[in-house]
Amino acid sequence: MTDPAETLEGRTALVTGGGSGIGRGISDELARAGALVLVVDMKAGSASDTATSLARRGLAARPITLDVTDSTAIGEVRSMLEAEDSMPDILVNNAAIFEMGALEDIDPPSWDRMIEVNLKGPFLMMQAFIPRMVDQEWGRVISISSTAGKTGEAYASHYCAAKRGLIALSQSAAAEVVPVTVNCICPGFVETPMTRIETRFWHSMDPAVSEELVVQRMRDQIPLGRMGRPEDIARAVRWLSLPTNDYLTGQAINVDGGLDFH
Ligand code: NAP
Repeated sequence: MTDPAETLEGRTALVTGGGSGIGRGISDELARAGALVLVVDMKAGSASDTATSLARRGLAARPITLDVTDSTAIGEVRSMLEAEDSMPDILVNNAAIFEMGALEDIDPPSWDRMIEVNLKGPFLMMQAFIPRMVDQEWGRVISISSTAGKTGEAYASHYCAAKRGLIALSQSAAAEVVPVTVNCICPGFVETPMTRIETRFWHSMDPAVSEELVVQRMRDQIPLGRMGRPEDIARAVRWLSLPTNDYLTGQAINVDGGLDFH
């Protein structure tokens, strides 16, 4: 029999950006651990694709269409979940956008949108859903930052600034909302639609370098010798979500195949 402290039976998890890439992997992992997963995404189709594929396998999931930058819509979702007594015990801030461009080419609207989605979105979600976790004296908040939020990365200054901000936001919340734990996972290179934006960018900078070669160069930087997979990140999120994991907060943990340990 599984130790109850090692499952998420009876817990509700809300995963933003659950319709694609890493968020889809996280939704799958948390549902298999026993949680009811609220799959949030901006496009109704992607949220319901994930939720339907989980439900077909007998797992508990429900799609919610939501733009994480829309505070009014977040309030409406919270009221709906409160009324149905299905407020999340676990919040995973995963939704984000990515773009690349030279510092001098990032125009103010692009900067604003990056901060809006990747930093203000998680802030609004925390504001909406942490208070009830504090009231019930149990909750987990896990935000997907990036190793690039620790090291910085050429041609991604707005993305890196937002991801660094997300770590600071999480650490500040961790100190404030005890006993709820608040942590970040920092992936390195993970094979998802978002990574294609980066491979296309480097290819456009030097058309002689194919996208395949860009991926190979990324892989060559990773001591464990392969690109990350959504399930690598998802397993870390599940582990942080477990009831047994109640003495770990305010951390930003790299899950990157060793990309950034030296
Ligand atoms: P992805 O495949 O592009 O998935 C991101 C998801 O977030 C998409 O479904 C997207 O919807 C959704 N989204 C975007 N803006 C949203 C908004 N305002 N409200 C609600 N949903 C929104 O990217 P991914 O690679 O899985 O990335 C997941 C997380 O990992 C992100 O936080 C990313 O920064 C982080 N990360 C990824 C890597 C990597 O190598 N892939 C590395 C480090 C960190 P649409 O498709 O409709 O836009």
